Amino acid sequence: MSAAVVRPVPDLGTVVHDAQAPVAIMSSSFDVIILGAGMAGASLAAELAPQRKVLLLEVEDEAGRHATGRSAAMFFESYGNATVCALSRASRAFLEHPPAGFADAPLMTPRAAMFVADVEGLPRLEAMLSAPGAAPTLRRLTPAAAIERVPILRPEWLAGAALDESGCDMDVAAIHQGYLRSARRAGAQLVLGARETMLAHEAGRWVVRSRVGEFGAPVLVNATGAWADAVARRAGVQTVGLQPKRRTAVTIPAPEGHDIRRWPLVIDIDETVYFKPDAGQLLLSPANEDPMDPCDVAPEELDVAIAVDRFETLASHPVRRINHRWAGLRSFVADKSPVVGFDARAEGFFWLAGQGGYGIQMAPALARAAAALLLDRPLPADIAAQGVVAADLAPGRPALRGQG
Ligand SMILES: Cc1cc2nc3c(=O)[nH]c(=O)nc-3n(C[C@H](O)[C@H](O)[C@H](O)COP(=O)(O)OP(=O)(O)OC[C@H]3O[C@@H](n4cnc5c(N)ncnc54)[C@H](O)[C@@H]3O)c2cc1C
Repeated sequence: MSAAVVRPVPDLGTVVHDAQAPVAIMSSSFDVIILGAGMAGASLAAELAPQRKVLLLEVEDEAGRHATGRSAAMFFESYGNATVCALSRASRAFLEHPPAGFADAPLMTPRAAMFVADVEGLPRLEAMLSAPGAAPTLRRLTPAAAIERVPILRPEWLAGAALDESGCDMDVAAIHQGYLRSARRAGAQLVLGARETMLAHEAGRWVVRSRVGEFGAPVLVNATGAWADAVARRAGVQTVGLQPKRRTAVTIPAPEGHDIRRWPLVIDIDETVYFKPDAGQLLLSPANEDPMDPCDVAPEELDVAIAVDRFETLASHPVRRINHRWAGLRSFVADKSPVVGFDARAEGFFWLAGQGGYGIQMAPALARAAAALLLDRPLPADIAAQGVVAADLAPGRPALRGQG
């Protein structure tokens, strides 16, 4: 092979392959190869590396370029279905008190969520407040109290509100970097810039062939986010019916004369728009869920226009400038629970996919649950105590049959 362009990054123990240049072909055997170095792959690598020889392989030149780098960074225990909520509750302790050396600054900052409704939405707000499974932290607010907290809300639009003060903003980059660093310290190897990979199951082991080398392991983890079904197909494994959905977000300048730092996330009761403070600006999203094929997704002008229109309907702050716009893919299977576990029909093929819009807030518990299942151990007791059951995560569960 021609000259190697392999740059070790001392901090992360990473090997990065230059996009333009020819690379050295490496060849190595591992216990586990994890495809995808987003939040899912990085967190599982950190959990497994103390116990197994792990390769974390990423097609892009940087880790976290897709869903992980594009999230709204919210933590709400009451967001998602019962399994997602249970995994998020089980993740809270880690995010609030990470192990020493994991991060330099707090990973969570309190951020309430305020649900708002106009006259038409009031019955749904009432239903949310009185639902048997309603979060105990959720309480009613009068429109006046809501406007006191967020003075740009239009009094002529607002008919009712509810507040949940248990939420937080997360420092997603710090969590992701913390996991990558922990994985490296425990001996995992991170290889970036792999580009296309060929997957084969040969003589009882998975072989990954790529421009950066050939790697083998008895266990292959599919933590490729929106690409998880496409990767399964390439591996000759039955898919699970994963649907990536585009969500768009923009930032706009903060309204002048307001200290927005302590504003809650404001979300309309039908989840058609939300906004929240974000590094001195307002982050705004039309909360869209547009089905897409996996790709490096870009925001559509129409989504941006819809976000602005919905925002201006409930807030008296005209949007004159968009500072930044982006879109990312939130990937769901039919029952909107994550898919975690060995595929019963493909030896050594392990799924860690379908994190939807909650893959950051449930990452700590999901990674520990995944590590336990991969090592053929029971779910950690604290996670099971929250009501998480391995069968609800299994790739072969009834809800996913016939979906692939
Ligand atoms: C706009 C938006 C807002 C969100 N808001 C929140 C929020 O507030 N709170 C929350 O908890 N979650 C939120 N999410 C969801 C969260 O971002 C995701 O659930 C999470 O990032 C998924 O992580 P992942 O590692 O599975 O996927 P990704 O981060 O997409 O990582 C998958 C990786 O796999 C790589 N890959 C693909 N194919 C291969 C291959 N063949 N070999 C090797 N690597 C491969 C990709 O390049 C990518 O880096 C949001 C998502 C979006 C888009």
